[in-house]
Amino acid sequence: MDDDLQFPAQQQQPPGSTEAMDPVPDHGEDSYVGHDRLAGQVALVTGGDSGIGRAVAIAYAREGADVAFTYLSEEQEDADATRDLVEAAGRRALPLALDLRERATCDEAVQRTVADLGGLDVLVNNAGYQMARDDTLEDYDDERIDRTFKTNLYALLWLSRAAIPHLRKRPGCIINNSSIQAYDPSDSLLDYAATKAAINNFTVNLAGQLGPDGIRVNAVAPGPIWTPLQPATQKTEKVKHFGADTPLGRAGRPAEVAPAFVFLASPADASYVSGTVLGVTGGKPVF
Ligand code: NAD
Ligand code: MG
Repeated sequence: MDDDLQFPAQQQQPPGSTEAMDPVPDHGEDSYVGHDRLAGQVALVTGGDSGIGRAVAIAYAREGADVAFTYLSEEQEDADATRDLVEAAGRRALPLALDLRERATCDEAVQRTVADLGGLDVLVNNAGYQMARDDTLEDYDDERIDRTFKTNLYALLWLSRAAIPHLRKRPGCIINNSSIQAYDPSDSLLDYAATKAAINNFTVNLAGQLGPDGIRVNAVAPGPIWTPLQPATQKTEKVKHFGADTPLGRAGRPAEVAPAFVFLASPADASYVSGTVLGVTGGKPVF
């Protein structure tokens, strides 16, 4: 198994921090080059402080968008770094410290984005929670079930609902962060995988509802990506070999996922793309 060693052993408490990771993830800081694909647009990215959300915030800013993003209050250091990266691209950043497990904070995230940045073109439902466990459903407590479903699913519905009237005016689009877990569920992530399968179903169904308004709805399904979520929620043994079981034989970098979010957001490139789930999995099937 040591042939498959991918990362040094490490463990964090959720939600996890970027600085504490070894190696620190690549969010495209030194590589992403924008081409005005989102010039003048406004995006709201949930969980934009770290991981895939930070890579999306950087890419969107370099493509010309102002970026509001949410984070948890424990993640202030990561949020400050994302804010600086968006501003370094010459765009406005709006960091929002909000726990999204309540309808009111989801409404607030949308309202403050529209009030401060002048509208909304792209809603990226990226925030997510998982906790890998060895036990079975009989041992899941309500707190765990609530945390997984409220973060991954309720918030996504509440945010999307609040955003629709604003998206209709542009018209804009919604991009959800799904997962390979929707197709190939791990029994240690029973509740999480179920939310991701629901997100896929919601994505195609909402695309049907909102098509007549010109609003596109899509999802990205990442495979194993090196973000704080992993050392914060997976067992050390799993972290050490994280990504080795993909056809490409390694974990992906957040910087390798962000371009999928750029493509789906781009009104020029993805004008006829709606109701689909784009896999970024290192070769694992997403059908
Ligand atoms: P991450 O830890 O960097 O990002 C997750 C973010 O979710 C956190 O930064 C946090 O701000 C936010 N969040 C968690 N609970 C929240 C709550 N109650 N209220 C508001 N925000 C909350 O990790 P990531 O891997 O970049 O995760 C982003 C998305 O990617 C998640 O939806 C995750 O399910 C999905 N995903 C990740 C992987 C992977 O291997 N890393 C694979 C497939 C899908
Ligand atoms: Mg974070």
